[in-house]
Amino acid sequence: MYDIILMVIDMDISLIKGVGDKAIEYLGKMNLYTINDLIEYYPYRYNFIKVISLIEARDGEVVTIKGIVDSESRVSYINKNFNRMVFKLRTDNFIINVTIFNRAFYKNSLKIGRLINLIGKYERKNNTFTASDIKFEVINGGKIEPVYHLVNGVKNKGLSKLIYECFSMRVDLDDYIPEYLSIKYKFMNKLDAAYNIHFPISMDKLKQAKLRAIYEEFFIFMFKMNYLKHKYDLDNKGLSRKVDKSKLDEFIDNLPFKLTEDQMSAVNDIYDDLVNPKRMNRLVLGDVGSGKTCVAVIGLYINYLSGYQGAMMAPTEILAHQHYESISKMFENYGLRVGLLVGSLKKSEKNNVCEKLLNGEIDILIGTHALLSENVEFNNLGLVVTDEQHRFGVNQRSNLQNKGIMSDVLYLSATPIPRTYALTIYGDMDTSVIKTKPNGRKEIITKAVKEKDLKNVLFKMVEEIKEGHQIYVVAPLIEDEDGESNLNDVKKLKEKFDLAFNNKIKVEILHGKMKNQEKDEIMEQFKNGEIKVLISTTVIEVGVDVKNSTMMVIFNAERFGLATLHQLRGRVGRNSLQSYCYLISNQDCERLKVMEESNDGFYISEKDFELRGEGDLFGTRQSGDMVFKLGDIRRDFKILAQCKMDASKFIQDNIVNNFSNYPQFRNVIKELEFID
Ligand code: ADP
Ligand code: MG
Repeated sequence: MYDIILMVIDMDISLIKGVGDKAIEYLGKMNLYTINDLIEYYPYRYNFIKVISLIEARDGEVVTIKGIVDSESRVSYINKNFNRMVFKLRTDNFIINVTIFNRAFYKNSLKIGRLINLIGKYERKNNTFTASDIKFEVINGGKIEPVYHLVNGVKNKGLSKLIYECFSMRVDLDDYIPEYLSIKYKFMNKLDAAYNIHFPISMDKLKQAKLRAIYEEFFIFMFKMNYLKHKYDLDNKGLSRKVDKSKLDEFIDNLPFKLTEDQMSAVNDIYDDLVNPKRMNRLVLGDVGSGKTCVAVIGLYINYLSGYQGAMMAPTEILAHQHYESISKMFENYGLRVGLLVGSLKKSEKNNVCEKLLNGEIDILIGTHALLSENVEFNNLGLVVTDEQHRFGVNQRSNLQNKGIMSDVLYLSATPIPRTYALTIYGDMDTSVIKTKPNGRKEIITKAVKEKDLKNVLFKMVEEIKEGHQIYVVAPLIEDEDGESNLNDVKKLKEKFDLAFNNKIKVEILHGKMKNQEKDEIMEQFKNGEIKVLISTTVIEVGVDVKNSTMMVIFNAERFGLATLHQLRGRVGRNSLQSYCYLISNQDCERLKVMEESNDGFYISEKDFELRGEGDLFGTRQSGDMVFKLGDIRRDFKILAQCKMDASKFIQDNIVNNFSNYPQFRNVIKELEFID
């Protein structure tokens, strides 16, 4: 009995000492429900704190010092929300004046004689130390401090303490690295690795711990990929279809444009796959704006002509709506019934869609991952299209596919990735590559501009608006709440632009914290040209298509990775008009030069690999692509490639006896096979 209790892995967080209802509520907001969730909630970066003596500190440099409180603290309130506290600190043989803002709540803790650490800047000329933070647990020498993504109400230190508590409980983590591989690579054990990621005692240990965790993530990923391929190879029977080719030709002839050569050959690949009884498992890889959606629509039409329902899944609601509108229009004259299913629909509306779907009154269903929910049942699903494939997990992919027993699948990806990656990651799929852009497209003129030269950009914006065109502006933050980051934010930019344009040009904002309905309204007004300038965060990164926009202005461009910058730029240049992209940054960074130099996504992805190939172990948040907790497919590509080989061999050796020695992998397979 006792043993069984210990084997329960996913223990509830309420078992942790000191966790009450309030904490449970806040942690719930972060999707943290079990001890395991907490243990695997890794820091996204680390602060390296090194305590130095004042003599070593350069004037104005941010440093950490250690000293003894030498006076009572005096607090003055500048206004209700702003206070200033001063006290004296003895450090080495100096006495310095310390100033700290908005930390009056520390007053009682700052007893004379108490040893503390201060983080801040020292100014020699008036002997003042302006502190940004006080640390009461004294650090000697140096410390690596984990920094976590948080929500309001949860503090970094508090979270770190809870995680620490977890390790004092008897947790049992499933290990997804087969023992013989752990031995081969001399990995530390799983629990030690997790501990060292949260509480590294040295850089070296941290590195080893991360390596192990990344290998495990990738191993599971590659296991899933390869397992699926293995299964496809085993039961390769697909649907058999009859298609009236003349109807297809008619549809293509009646498109408002002529397909490019690459589009045409992708369409032919898809046609062959579909009429062939082998099940289609194809990826269409092409740059933003290369016309993948249109190819997918033709695929959906072929599927319809052969008598089956189709589904298309998009990663965001904005994109799902957009597909719904444009696809409905394309099929308008052909009698196809197109439906939309997204999370924000009312329950009754959802039920209505589901009913029609089951009765076969919807031919094509477009939606977000809401399509995956269990109560969505198709009448006879024949083809599933997944747009912006890299945004979805492997699990989600196979879930939707399993809704139609033998349905064909088509994936679209706008992340042009170097060939070597593609072969590793998409090795289990056939691929069609669209290299050329539709005719008449001009290169987007791209310029890096310093913030002090913003005026020139404003002039250009006015010029474009006078021409009747529209503009996107992107900033890294929605709102800079504590005003500490020095970054541009969406809300402040709106004020700035309104001022600059004297309120004569309609500027609006769009960001992820807005309600869906608000977002839809704003998008609608931007599409119909009412809104001239749309300021947003990267929510517009994926797939949004407003042809009349000719200018993209990205603030703090140095904050974004090349893939993101390229995706963002892809929002303009969507017709034959000359388009522009301005990258506003005060830094000279290599990535911006690459952007100025080229419009070719494949070239940019190669450069990205070169630039980020090594190092950057503690880089800030990683951008886009497959979402791993710690791994980064570019930076850690060698590990990924190794995992592919190891996982493939592991499956070969163990699939015959159904992984009897590795019960943990049976759970992975169960997930993949969507067994209710
Ligand atoms: P992607 O999904 O690859 O980013 P889309 O399919 O959204 O690209 O196409 C971008 C835009 O180009 C759309 O407005 C689409 O109507 C248009 N388009 C697609 N193919 C062609 C073509 N062959 N000629 C002209 N315009 C095209
Ligand atoms: Mg698209």
